[in-house]
Amino acid sequence: MLDAPSNRPALPPEIARRRTFAIISHPDAGKTTLTEKFLLYGGAIQMAGQVRAKGEARRTRSDFMKMEQDRGISVSASAMSFDYERFRFNLVDTPGHSDFSEDTYRTLTAVDAAVMVIDGAKGVESQTRKLFEVCRLRDLPILTFCNKMDRESRDTFEIIDEIQEMLAIHVTPASWPIGVGREFLGCYDMLRNRLELMDRADRNKVAESIKIEGLDDPKLAEHVPQDLREKLIEEVEMAKELLPALDPQAVLEGQMTPIWFGSAINSFGVKELMDGIANYGPEPQIQPAESRQIAPEEPKVAGFVFKVQANMDPKHRDRVAFVRLASGHFQRGMKLTHVRSKKPITVSSPVLFLAADRELAEEAWAGDIIGIPNHGQLRIGDTLTEGEALKVTGIPSFAPELLKNCRAGDPMKAKHLDKALMQFAEEGAAKVFKPMVGSGFIVGVVGALQFEVLASRIELEYGLPVRFEPSQFTSARWVHGEKADVDGFVQKNKQHMATDNDGDVVYMTRLQWDIDRVLRDHPELTLSATKEMQ
Ligand code: GDP
Repeated sequence: MLDAPSNRPALPPEIARRRTFAIISHPDAGKTTLTEKFLLYGGAIQMAGQVRAKGEARRTRSDFMKMEQDRGISVSASAMSFDYERFRFNLVDTPGHSDFSEDTYRTLTAVDAAVMVIDGAKGVESQTRKLFEVCRLRDLPILTFCNKMDRESRDTFEIIDEIQEMLAIHVTPASWPIGVGREFLGCYDMLRNRLELMDRADRNKVAESIKIEGLDDPKLAEHVPQDLREKLIEEVEMAKELLPALDPQAVLEGQMTPIWFGSAINSFGVKELMDGIANYGPEPQIQPAESRQIAPEEPKVAGFVFKVQANMDPKHRDRVAFVRLASGHFQRGMKLTHVRSKKPITVSSPVLFLAADRELAEEAWAGDIIGIPNHGQLRIGDTLTEGEALKVTGIPSFAPELLKNCRAGDPMKAKHLDKALMQFAEEGAAKVFKPMVGSGFIVGVVGALQFEVLASRIELEYGLPVRFEPSQFTSARWVHGEKADVDGFVQKNKQHMATDNDGDVVYMTRLQWDIDRVLRDHPELTLSATKEMQ
């Protein structure tokens, strides 16, 4: 987070009540289940289980999603908005599979906080750790939910220690579990001095909460058997002594994470977590941009595209650009400037994503995510304003880790391949490189599964069978430097050179040794593995 200027006014109430966040977790930790329970408490759905059910209905409508269904993975990220008490939550979903991590990274540029879900038996797993590192780059505040406490889990101190050590962040217990596995009774709410007991009979019911006056309150004995009570009192005392107390400012700065224990499937601990997001999660934050920062309270609207999704509705072949509003009060029908092309666009049918349905957004405020249907003008990284030439920064594009040649199965249709690949490149689904020598394209992705998704989408959406074949290259690096230096380098290394879909110069090789050599022999150039989206 950026330091707020000290003379900043309080945010308008409509903006101050917004909490825009993502859930990060390792597959299977319970992200989907937790999302369902959020929506349940947010009143967005009547019964848990609908997120999945609706997701499936959507998938059968859209054929390309079939892969998702077959593989049991979620390929696309979407945003959901719902009210919780006086707050408006915007939950931006991140795809869980590691092959789609680039998409996930960009999604994290559009949120102000992350909820980290870990499995109580497994602790911090690889994908959680990777995602945490991305959050750390931006000092994003993180709230932790330790899930599946109704199963055999690790010792509470051990879990907290592991987070502190593996992720180098202070952990403060917001709740403390009472018993574990079959003996799991509920939690002691350390922030509000209350007992929260779990109702195993009804998974969609809000847990019973009992006010107690300290751990020596006789009411504790009424609800918790002696052995568990003694263990709880001892552990809470130790926790108070050994672990840091909640420091809201340290949470906002990303230095400390409060941890709640619960069981998403039993709806337990979820409401406390939501209260935590409301009370300790950040308001919409300042957005870094090229000429100046954008503050959410500025009256004029500014926003940026962090994701583009094509063909969400196959009947219309539309694309939806997901825009995070960085400032102002947006109203439907507004005319905004598309800064990259300097052209005005009238946003007449913006969509809000309420639970799994799309709805027309009559208005939206800084912090909200809106979808803008368009025909390809809006690309990832684009900024929209009311006229000012601002460019939001910090939306990364990663060098792909896997490269393959892409050929049309039917050579007569090779021209269409060009168009299809450009579309996916703009959407951010792949990098497309045109080698300077030879014909065809080299497609780069971050995870191998993306090749299969691309091949099936190109076939379904363009009627074009394609083949991906091994490429002689394995690495791509963007080349930066003075134009004359870059041109000279290109002339001498034509066999290795390509341009990306924005026309930027890329050096390709299969040897790290080559990259080291270029860096040594050409101090005037830099090779980079990321570039900011144009
Ligand atoms: P995701 O991959 O992170 O989205 O995980 P899911 O929400 O799909 O959950 C993975 C599995 O764990 C599913 O079978 C869930 O029913 C189960 N699960 C989720 N939360 C809990 C919980 O609190 N306790 C138990 N025992 N199982 C859970």
